[in-house]
Amino acid sequence: MDNSRRSFLKTATVLAGVAAVPVSLMSREAFAAKVAKASMQYQDTPKNGAQCSTCMQFIPGKSAKASGTCKVVDGSISPEGWCLAYSAKS
Ligand code: SF4
Repeated sequence: MDNSRRSFLKTATVLAGVAAVPVSLMSREAFAAKVAKASMQYQDTPKNGAQCSTCMQFIPGKSAKASGTCKVVDGSISPEGWCLAYSAKS
């Protein structure tokens, strides 16, 4: 392989690696992003007996009555809350 071709391939490989970094970071951020409470019609009270503490997306707080977080909805989540994404634990 001549030097110019080797040099070109080396440069192309480095550029491809540099270009791939932002894409992988964007993907990780996109997966980590949560939805705003308002867009999921979140409320701090149960709905028809369904509430966050019985939802598979709920991450409990320090105690059963403490607010926790949600894998889907952003912000502090009441164990007695509810939103459109409610999905009962099986
Ligand atoms: S998905 Fe909705 S109902 Fe379920 S824990 Fe999150 S906020 Fe509560």
